[in-house]
Amino acid sequence: MFAALSLAPVAGAEAYALRTVRAGDSIGAIAERYGVTVEAILNANELATTVIRPGDVLKVPYVEAVGGPAELGAKIPPGFVWYTMRQGETLSAVASRFGISITALVGANPDISSLDRLPTGFELLIPPSAGLVVRLAGESDVLALLEEHDISPAEFARANGLRSPFDITPDMLVFLPGVQPTEALARLQKVREAENRFVWPLHGRLTSYYGPRNLGMGTSSFHRGIDIAAPTGTPVVAARSGTVTYAGWSTQGYGNLVRIRHADDSETWYAHFSSVSVSVGQYVSQGSVIGRVGSTGLSTGPHLHFELHERGRAIDPLHVLR
Ligand SMILES: [Zn+2]
Repeated sequence: MFAALSLAPVAGAEAYALRTVRAGDSIGAIAERYGVTVEAILNANELATTVIRPGDVLKVPYVEAVGGPAELGAKIPPGFVWYTMRQGETLSAVASRFGISITALVGANPDISSLDRLPTGFELLIPPSAGLVVRLAGESDVLALLEEHDISPAEFARANGLRSPFDITPDMLVFLPGVQPTEALARLQKVREAENRFVWPLHGRLTSYYGPRNLGMGTSSFHRGIDIAAPTGTPVVAARSGTVTYAGWSTQGYGNLVRIRHADDSETWYAHFSSVSVSVGQYVSQGSVIGRVGSTGLSTGPHLHFELHERGRAIDPLHVLR
């Protein structure tokens, strides 16, 4: 018997954030930004060189939480406050606590590394309204910036507590009211997809792991997936979006089996269903119900047997489920 494990997602179980490399980024600059060593980033990403390219997604191990758009202590526009994320708190919880939208929260913190994996203690700027916070570069042309975003100089001055829109200093954080953080949202969406490639198909007790298992009486076999116990009829969801490649009775002990092929040709298998609710060729999105827990095929009680195949080989699903 295996000890029961709770499968509730553990916030902050991974002590790193994902950071999409932008044009002009270097590992050194990212390391400095997050207060970690270059070596720590190289190790976390199993990189042999410091060469990175825009679009690469880097794991950045946290030593301490970093702030939103600015280092702590930077002067912030009027009406903004700093907020420290609490244990287990999500961005949407913070947004609803302050009665603002996620988009407004991202606009005030366009440099955050993740929508879902900010660590406890992370410092967020809470804006008084929707808009975009930008850091002025030394040679910023404020008028061009205002023109680009269709903001009047008076509105800009008011939103930033300035006597004149030209009353600015290099490196100052300014608030562009009403501007959508389009770029940040697109980047964070990509990060979210990379972070959440697979989700748990079912929450329940993990009763058997991937790997060799002893069947007693001197016999053993290799368990190609994990078993998650749950009552018969509990809905099981697609761990990731994809196309159904098999849906129905399997002669190989899987009972009622669903297989889903994903964009990178990996496949997830879901076995022993009491009922199957998808058919071959159907596209299913991540999190949608594909069948119900059962005990069909070679099974000793209601559970989901879940396999993950990459390059035609079953690998340990716990490597990708978090
Ligand atoms: Zn199994």
